Amino acid sequence: MEPTADSALVVFSGGQDSATCLAWTLSRFGRVETIGFDYGQRHAVELSCRAEVLARLRALSPLWDGRLGPDTLLTLDVFQQLGETALTHDVEIAMTASGLPSTFVPGRNLIFLTLAAAQAYRRGIKHIVTGVCETDFSGYPDCRDDTMKALQIAVNLGLQARLVIETPLMWLTKAETWTLAHSLGGEALVELILEHTHTCYQGRRGTRHAWGHGCGTCPACTLRAAGWEQYRGRASGGQGA
Ligand code: ZN
Repeated sequence: MEPTADSALVVFSGGQDSATCLAWTLSRFGRVETIGFDYGQRHAVELSCRAEVLARLRALSPLWDGRLGPDTLLTLDVFQQLGETALTHDVEIAMTASGLPSTFVPGRNLIFLTLAAAQAYRRGIKHIVTGVCETDFSGYPDCRDDTMKALQIAVNLGLQARLVIETPLMWLTKAETWTLAHSLGGEALVELILEHTHTCYQGRRGTRHAWGHGCGTCPACTLRAAGWEQYRGRASGGQGA
């Protein structure tokens, strides 16, 4: 199928970043599809948030509802087979001798983007959108801008295609990602992301903090909480809200 310029496939996990990316994509492209991966993550609750977020994004905007197409969830057992990481096994979240946190799943984004490219190719989609970010990231080398640019070249050579990997969050801080969400869908979108996306590595939904649900102590929660506080601080300082 010949890809159309107005089409995009969003790598959608059910987390804050990918939900913001999805809203960004829905505001720009006429035909939008989503793809997610069940790779045995301990925080599998993230996946159960996906359908809820998709339904609520549809309800938020008739325009977005009309643009949003099918969702695909792929199962990848390979990462658990490859070996232990803190995201796929009951391993402590800590810094390792390599200088990377134990939450790093080697090859994860390389595989995700390659599979997304294969899906985009089959579905006649030109743009692949991912929420990777180099600014406030956890030191994951597969989130870097250079990694994404190299991957774009690799998949295009391997598929004989002209796919474009879009990374709207690449240079944003977590606070700026909230600002982006507000600019795309106002308070309603900010509230939707707060309440219905999942970030916590421990997979805890229980407590509802000002910044959303989570354990409140893992690196993902800490980052999300700090970003929210910075965003709120700016909002109240600048608008008196
Ligand atoms: Zn947490």
